[in-house]
Amino acid sequence: MDEFGVIERFFRHTPQAESVLLGPGDDAAVIKPTPGMGLTMSMDTLLEGRHFPVGFPAEYVGWRSLAVNLSDLAAMGARPRWALLSLSLPQVDEAWLEGFCRGFFTLAEQMGVSLVGGDTVKGPLSITVQVTGEVPATRALRRSGARPGDKLCITGPVGLAAAGLANWQAGITTGALVQAFAQPIPQCQTSLRLQGLATSAIDISDGLLADLQHILTASGGIGADVHVEALPLTSEFLSWGDGAQRQQAQLYGGDDYQLLFTLLSHVNVPRGCVQIGRITSRPRIRVQDFQGQWHDNMAIRGWDHFTS
Ligand code: ADP
Ligand code: MG
Repeated sequence: MDEFGVIERFFRHTPQAESVLLGPGDDAAVIKPTPGMGLTMSMDTLLEGRHFPVGFPAEYVGWRSLAVNLSDLAAMGARPRWALLSLSLPQVDEAWLEGFCRGFFTLAEQMGVSLVGGDTVKGPLSITVQVTGEVPATRALRRSGARPGDKLCITGPVGLAAAGLANWQAGITTGALVQAFAQPIPQCQTSLRLQGLATSAIDISDGLLADLQHILTASGGIGADVHVEALPLTSEFLSWGDGAQRQQAQLYGGDDYQLLFTLLSHVNVPRGCVQIGRITSRPRIRVQDFQGQWHDNMAIRGWDHFTS
């Protein structure tokens, strides 16, 4: 099967929304945005061995490659609409492509996203997805709007994906923690409820404290108090590791794709979300650990591609 065969068989006949006037197959796609909406765009590349383990099941790779992109749109408060997919494949492995498509299109359908085009080349395994979403231009959520006194909130538990990746590397390939790493659920639904409500937002891809620091820096160099005890937990996570390992995963583990956001102090925390701290004027992060001890000036040790 050549490049055109792959496109024809796997990507040409994808389910399309009414907003897609022309999907994969021509020289470019034609879409019809909703009148009055702003368009928001994002793109992420996943490399084998860097963003997912070598030999990771194709279904998980397909799901994750879309999920991490949709999470960026969720962080903007945008509704996901269209995607482009650039695939670099070492060879045409039909079973792998079937698995990839199952993961990719299952999530696409759940989130109302249409694949409108892409590119297919031969090379080392690498997946680039570009997504476009819609948000009323003045209601897009930014990193820069947090102010001292704001509530600091999260959409769900963090640390699960890091625990899941550790399990995977130890040979444990099933369970809720591995699932959290393999098929994270982008917070697209919750994100729409934060439109025009949150003063700032970011998705947690690199780790809670690392991504919190991005909000604090973008918001003019302010700080935050974080209570580890307030972080949501699951029973599977509670039976993983010891207290110190769990706290490490919660504060520094990436890949959960929950949203971290701030609210004016008088605004109620949306249902399903949890307040984990508060924004402060001192330019540093203070953390109250799971034993109740305060730690000042917490070192930022989230994943950084250039230092680790
Ligand atoms: P061109 O040489 O004109 O760029 P391509 O052969 O790259 O054309 O692509 C032909 C059509 O197939 C285009 O509409 C393109 O968007 C689509 N396409 C190629 N690869 C993919 C893919 N991985 N997923 C979805 N659509 C794809
Ligand atoms: Mg092309």
